Amino acid sequence: MAEVRFNKIRKEYGSTVIVDDIDIVFPDGSLTVLVGPSGCGKSTSLRMLAGLEEISGGEITIDGRVVNGLEPKDRDVAMVFQNYALYPHLTVLENIAFPLRATKTGKRDALRRAQEVADSLGLGALTSRKPKDLSGGQQQRVAIGRAIIREPAVFLFDEPLSNLDAKLRVETRFELMQIQRRLGITAVYVTHDQEEAMTMSDRMVVMKDGRVAQSGQPEEIYARPNSVFVATFVGSPKMNIIAGAIAGGEFRSSMGSRVALGAHVRQESVILGVRPDDLLLTPNPAGLARVALVELLGPRAIVHLDAGGDRLTSVVDADRLSDLSTGIAVDLAVRPGAAHFFDPDTEDRIELS
Ligand code: ADP
Repeated sequence: MAEVRFNKIRKEYGSTVIVDDIDIVFPDGSLTVLVGPSGCGKSTSLRMLAGLEEISGGEITIDGRVVNGLEPKDRDVAMVFQNYALYPHLTVLENIAFPLRATKTGKRDALRRAQEVADSLGLGALTSRKPKDLSGGQQQRVAIGRAIIREPAVFLFDEPLSNLDAKLRVETRFELMQIQRRLGITAVYVTHDQEEAMTMSDRMVVMKDGRVAQSGQPEEIYARPNSVFVATFVGSPKMNIIAGAIAGGEFRSSMGSRVALGAHVRQESVILGVRPDDLLLTPNPAGLARVALVELLGPRAIVHLDAGGDRLTSVVDADRLSDLSTGIAVDLAVRPGAAHFFDPDTEDRIELS
């Protein structure tokens, strides 16, 4: 059982602030994903928690105990890296048992325990193989086994799947989630991939420039992003963002497009955000937007629109494509209640009603 807390955690290299007084609570037993663009301070934050990086300010606690001054091995954490270096000359079983070599566990007990861990990870039949005779996903599971065997209070993952191809990444991601849920170990997972963050996390912490841009359940963040940055970082294809003004139930972009809102608010200057799924298209020869390109993705299609200079995207059911070929003019509307609004100066979310 371990709740992890970052209290005003800061990291500086010389005069450069890399992590800027962040507060994060990682609830006991949860899988929290730190996500954000490259360079925003995710890995540094994880490495400070692991004890691999000095902390310039603030406190990190694990289960109420301040760990700032503790060596990595005394923090009761285990870390799985992207480049999980397995020992090539050791078998799967020996690799998993390796962390117990320096403990009081005898060799026989260590190997028996490693076998249990291997079984729990679906590696039970592969324990006498060497790493080179395993697939990438199996190797990754061995690395996880090696982290699990010490029964850490906290599991740390730094982009552990980025060396795997797309299909294997999805499979291993799913396995990793199942293992974490089954063991109930508090886990902190770092990735730059918002889709990975959305699908895996109980809690998601979106970082930008060394700060927390927004944290919460992934569904909450997706539904109510608190800024243009978070709105466009989370979700694929990206949310449409258009600057303009609202009058008479219609949004008028400064570039010339028009989007029907249905809501009768007035706001002289606003940024409209519309998820591609919520941008509705109606063919109309007098429409101001034009279909520029259609990308078919199986049952759904991405429709790229040229709307008087605004480049927008809509996602539609593929069976609508007979109406929406390239060059067709359309009217635009937002699905009722699905418009997001942001302040044009601060780019923070605003509520209009
Ligand atoms: P992320 O994991 O989000 O991609 P990092 O935590 O690795 O970001 O890095 C955050 C910032 O800190 C980056 O701008 C990086 O260049 C900088 N940085 C990381 N390590 C060092 C270091 N040892 N010295 C100076 N700057 C560093």
